[in-house]
Amino acid sequence: KALGKGIVVKFDPSMRADFERRGRLEIDLKLALKNGDIFPFYQPQVDIDTGKLVGFEALARWNHPELGWIGPYEFIPIAETSSQIVELGRCILTTACIEAMAFPDDVRVSVNLSVGQMLRDDVIGMVTDILASTGFPAERLTLEVTESVMMSEPELAARILNGLKELGISIALDDFGTGYSALSYLRQFDWDELKIDKSFVDDLGHDPRCLSIIESVVDLATELGMKVVAEGVETADQHEILRKSGCHIAQGYLFGRPQPIDQVHVTLLKSLAPSAPQIEATKATG
Ligand code: C2E
Ligand code: MG
Ligand code: MG
Ligand code: MG
Repeated sequence: KALGKGIVVKFDPSMRADFERRGRLEIDLKLALKNGDIFPFYQPQVDIDTGKLVGFEALARWNHPELGWIGPYEFIPIAETSSQIVELGRCILTTACIEAMAFPDDVRVSVNLSVGQMLRDDVIGMVTDILASTGFPAERLTLEVTESVMMSEPELAARILNGLKELGISIALDDFGTGYSALSYLRQFDWDELKIDKSFVDDLGHDPRCLSIIESVVDLATELGMKVVAEGVETADQHEILRKSGCHIAQGYLFGRPQPIDQVHVTLLKSLAPSAPQIEATKATG
């Protein structure tokens, strides 16, 4: 029906399977949040010039007792439509703040914030409470939102984001380049960080227009006082091009995959060791 009158879609067995899985995940989500089966992995972010570890992005993972690992592209949309996104957001932010308390003082943590959660719930109150109860310093926290946050209710969104900034938190504009990316979004709010989407980084080597766009975006963002993070850096070539174009921070499989907290501690030890070659660029293995 969603496709309009007169359009007939065959309902094949794989669609039924998808539908059933979705329904099941929606039901299981509640228990998963209660049992702690959904928790963050952490992906390193490095200074693009020196390779020094500067932070981690927390990325939600679901370890389902029967279905195994489930990624956020599958369960975040389910959490959003079933209004469990508020609880999920609270859960990931709380765990990230608790775990990041053990990180060195100069290592930051970034947490994704869903648009639905931000506009529906009292996010400022929630974040204030979590910072107070965990003791994590606001100055070391970045919250990432996508530009869709500015689309439906820009004034409300800007007010909420400003409230979060007043707590001392940094705000990142995530996935830049994927949506409509109207330049007005850069004007409507004083973003601290801009994350260039992986799709741009992917095409860097073979598309000269892509390079021009990135160079211009980096200049513009830097001029506006933003830090520029490149997402999804997988090859040494991409790293070199992005470094030359003036990006500040890199994140991607070249520097490390999202990893469970135990492994984060190993990464931190390595990066702290005197004369350590900082984060070793590891080969992306799929
Ligand atoms: P994102 O915030 O843009 O996160 C970056 C995504 O790119 C992550 O996917 C990460 O694993 C992946 N990635 C990073 N480097 C590379 C690379 O070099 N190669 C490739 N192929 N992929 C790379 P992930 O973890 O599957 O997360 C997907 C999206 O789900 C995130 O995109 C974010 O929008 C959302 N998400 C994840 N965790 C949360 C959360 O706790 N709350 C909310 N609201 N959304 C979340
Ligand atoms: Mg993100
Ligand atoms: Mg992103
Ligand atoms: Mg992305």
